[in-house]
Amino acid sequence: AAKSAGRNAYRFFTPEMNTRVQQFLRIENELRRALAHGELVLHYQPQFDAFTGAVIGVEALVRWRHPQRGLILPGEFIPVAEESGLIQAIGEWVVDEACRQTRAWHDRGLRRVPVAVNLSAAELHRADTAGRIAGALQRNGLAARWLELEITESALMRDIGRARLTLQVLHDMGVQIALDDFGTGYSSLAHLRQFSLSALKLDRSFVRDLETDVNDAAICRAVIALGHTLGLRVIAEGVETTGQLVFLRGNRCSAIQGALFSPALPPEQVAVLLQPDYVAPVAPTLPVPLF
Ligand code: C2E
Ligand code: MG
Ligand code: MG
Ligand code: MG
Repeated sequence: AAKSAGRNAYRFFTPEMNTRVQQFLRIENELRRALAHGELVLHYQPQFDAFTGAVIGVEALVRWRHPQRGLILPGEFIPVAEESGLIQAIGEWVVDEACRQTRAWHDRGLRRVPVAVNLSAAELHRADTAGRIAGALQRNGLAARWLELEITESALMRDIGRARLTLQVLHDMGVQIALDDFGTGYSSLAHLRQFSLSALKLDRSFVRDLETDVNDAAICRAVIALGHTLGLRVIAEGVETTGQLVFLRGNRCSAIQGALFSPALPPEQVAVLLQPDYVAPVAPTLPVPLF
């Protein structure tokens, strides 16, 4: 590998690499402190019924309230957390906090919807994951059916045997499992059938240009049909336009998530959308396609 990388491969620490390593270590240290000092927060992005406009679920998305740099998105620190092993502690906190918040919303008489939590590959492949999740549900008095775990295809494929076992245990507990970013990874359809899944999430990259790119439109139709054939719910991610919504409705994709209806919001603002009589205003005014 060193040979094919060229002669520079022998100079192990280039100045740029040194800086990158230092930056990695700095973020890791700051992140450890952030977790201990309560600087991590969860925002929640509502998911809507494409036909009625009602909220049908929320996805918990972690943010870092950095004292100097403001709100930092997960793309900047989740990779560091995964490489350093901090993801275990962060993941435990995320599941516990999402369960606590959901129970609190239920207790306030708000619309009862499941909360979806993203699980990284490292978390999925630990032997004690199902037990830790059961603990979080119990501590917060939340029934398992209100929790959905989002897992990517590549996380599943890393260790298929272990993943199948863990998902089976979680499924038997009553936890729902969604396959996140579907279509962007490599998963064999033969394997898909073996996992105890309840939903597929159609990746944002296919939704984005479906109005103008015939290939993307075809992929969206195929993923929706595949999900339904396997008896799964299909949730479209990153829905930003009315045209996308109309297309998805026409193809019987009834769950949508995206900026068109709502971005991820802090819990106080989500509570407003969880009022029992709230429906997103745009849906009812759109033509319902004839099936
Ligand atoms: P994801 O699970 O696929 O989450 C969806 C991402 O798309 C979120 O970005 C969300 O804010 C964004 N999004 C939703 N609708 C739209 C839209 O209409 N337009 C655009 N441009 N973006 C939209 P976010 O919050 O930055 O999260 C990025 C990724 O970080 C997530 O992708 C997930 O893989 C990871 N992540 C977030 N929270 C956690 C967590 O608690 N644990 C772990 N392990 N990973 C997390
Ligand atoms: Mg997700
Ligand atoms: Mg996703
Ligand atoms: Mg994504």
